Amino acid sequence: MNIPFLDLKVQHQDLRAELTQVFNEVLDSGWFIQGNQLALFEQEYASYCGTKHCIGVGNGLDALHLILRAYGIGAGDEVIVPSNTYIATWLAASYAGATPVPVEPDLATYNIDPALIEAAITPRTKAIIAVHLYGQMADMDAINDIARKHGLKVIEDAAQSQGALYKGRLSGGLADAAGHSFYPGKNLGALGDAGAITTNDDALADQLRMLRNYGSQIKYKNEIKGFNSRLDELQAAFLRVKLKKITQWNEQRRALARIYQQGLQQLPSLTLPYVPEWADPVWHLYVVRCAKRDELQQYLQAAGIGTVIHYPIPPHLQGAYAELDMATGSLPISEKIHSEIISLPLDPYLSSADAHRVLEVVRQFAA
Ligand SMILES: *Cc1c(COP(=O)(O)O)cnc(C)c1O
Repeated sequence: MNIPFLDLKVQHQDLRAELTQVFNEVLDSGWFIQGNQLALFEQEYASYCGTKHCIGVGNGLDALHLILRAYGIGAGDEVIVPSNTYIATWLAASYAGATPVPVEPDLATYNIDPALIEAAITPRTKAIIAVHLYGQMADMDAINDIARKHGLKVIEDAAQSQGALYKGRLSGGLADAAGHSFYPGKNLGALGDAGAITTNDDALADQLRMLRNYGSQIKYKNEIKGFNSRLDELQAAFLRVKLKKITQWNEQRRALARIYQQGLQQLPSLTLPYVPEWADPVWHLYVVRCAKRDELQQYLQAAGIGTVIHYPIPPHLQGAYAELDMATGSLPISEKIHSEIISLPLDPYLSSADAHRVLEVVRQFAA
């Protein structure tokens, strides 16, 4: 019996009739960019996140990058980013022309440690990007308090956290603006690349609507040097179909996470995800730490269970950031996490029987 890490074919088989129907509607409409489907998705997603605005863009990296641009953050500026994240968070700062300044995570939550942020603030710091990694919430009140004190913008990287709650409030509406990714494997995924920004800031929303579309609000009138980063009609239509399922999907993710949390808690060789009392995560990934991570991965593989490492190399040790000249050992908490983590299969189409099978094999390994 094989349990793949993620098989989107099962999800799409379930939704085939609806996805095909909206594909046909868009095809027949003859309108593929910035039309009704986008306008409706933006309304529906803003309403889902509880924000005033949603601006669809080409992908999650562009969402973060364009937010920084819209705030005028660029060359000579510094942006505080988590050291423990997917590289896109850092690249957003780099694309804007700013310098990403990494801050280490809390080893319990894997998210940026608010207690370490102030030491990284300089006169050049303009913003903090907080990532809700693996669908677990960053400590937004603490981060917003520091930002207010220093006059900084706060941006949520909500690529992995659609539907997660912080003190009962939804991810995507907890800071100045949030970048979302609808990469196919995310909790809400398109059938290709797509992303969005949510915000309550009217001026920012206006600026972003121009930036994503060649700097133009009125066709062929270009007020600023913009980009081409639009969420197309087909992807918007597919996302509208899937948005109706997200609540139910996230509940299934939570149910599977409960099975893992209960079933693995007795194993001393594993460190399970820690959930602060103020968080209700959406388990984009179920990540455990194990000193013998590579052996565990091979053992699961031999039993037909797929796993993935999110992520094997931290951004500061990537060739892309060789310019920072940060040696191994310079961000020890992130490096420890990267060397010990492994993501077990968890997606809404995984059955609880599958999750129990995963438990059984992990327990065999630990014994
Ligand atoms: C996926 C992801 C992004 C980038 O999203 P894309 O749509 O792939 O550009 C940014 N940040 C994090 C934390 C992500 O997981």
